[in-house]
Amino acid sequence: MSHQVVIKNAVKIYGDYKAVNNANLTIKEGELFTLLGPSGCGKTTLLRMIAGFNSIDGGHISFGDKVINDIPAHKRNIGMVFQNYAIFPHMSVFNNVAYGLKARKIHKDEINKRVMEALEMVQMAQFKDRQPSQLSGGQQQRIALARAIVIHPDVLLMDEPLSNLDAKLRVQMRTIIRKLQKDLKITTIYVTHDQEEALAISDRIAVMKLGVIQQVGTPVEIYKDPQNTFIGDFIGTSNYLKGKVIEKNSNGTRININNKIINMNLKNDYTGEVIVGARPEEIMITDAKKDELNGEIVIGTFLGDFINYEIRLANGQIVEVNEYTKDISHIRKSGDKVSLILSSDRIHIYDSTGEEVLL
Ligand code: ATP
Repeated sequence: MSHQVVIKNAVKIYGDYKAVNNANLTIKEGELFTLLGPSGCGKTTLLRMIAGFNSIDGGHISFGDKVINDIPAHKRNIGMVFQNYAIFPHMSVFNNVAYGLKARKIHKDEINKRVMEALEMVQMAQFKDRQPSQLSGGQQQRIALARAIVIHPDVLLMDEPLSNLDAKLRVQMRTIIRKLQKDLKITTIYVTHDQEEALAISDRIAVMKLGVIQQVGTPVEIYKDPQNTFIGDFIGTSNYLKGKVIEKNSNGTRININNKIINMNLKNDYTGEVIVGARPEEIMITDAKKDELNGEIVIGTFLGDFINYEIRLANGQIVEVNEYTKDISHIRKSGDKVSLILSSDRIHIYDSTGEEVLL
């Protein structure tokens, strides 16, 4: 039986540093939930608190309606997959996967059935008699996955499981994990620093920075509506332009961006400097026009179904724009003058620190 995981005001302190600072999350039953963030943000620490390898210094964590703070790791019925596989080198593939079931004193016939089922799921049944040293990294990781699921855990925890694999294998394993997780409907918490992997694999993501959860949402929500400039920068690419609120009237707020005035409906009556965030595909480009946000092409790069441009604005700032055009053979040349069109429903306005989105 899979379980919902609730994390309430969870804290982990090392010395005087809060590695996990008041985390609040509800991971729904059967979802694949990712903790994403740069190195040192606290994602592994939080995962290890859920696993029971780290004590909890404040708040509580529950599986279903049972608080598990004081339950030791081996009694939490979790499956765990690590970056370094951590399979037993001296045991055959079969015995590696059977290990947790033997420890639970399950009948031999049942063990046989469940191990072979788990090996089938990760497409490794034909390797059951091999030793780990005779397997590739990707195959060893599939064994680690089989070993984690064979015990029918309440919660599956995965700590950077694909980081040691090469790029192509990482993408293949991503799909295997995703399908398996959906088939088994097993509540899964997945840790990665790789934003693309997080977007590809997750039902929902929590973005972390310096021990603090920054935003929780589906991959689309996080990508489309980053709640601060750190998130917009860490996930995908964002251009950040300086702007200034010059007037508020019944039509909204007028903002000056490099002498181009745009009208936005900001959610509060913020005044002063702002940061305007726009992704490369959220900016349109046209031949230069009067009274627009103008710049000059630095370089255009043909990338298949779009052209990526670096454009230098009058103030020297470089902006990245992706142009999706029917006539892909026409690439604007270095030095060409262009206008950048920002549409108010596609860009984000942040306060001057970049910490708060204003619409
Ligand atoms: P990475 O991807 O590099 O593993 P992470 O986001 O998983 O990073 P954590 O390993 O959770 O980060 O570490 C969070 C913070 O806690 C870091 O500043 C780290 O130095 C600190 N930390 C982690 N474990 C300990 C420990 N046992 N003692 C002291 N500080 C620790």
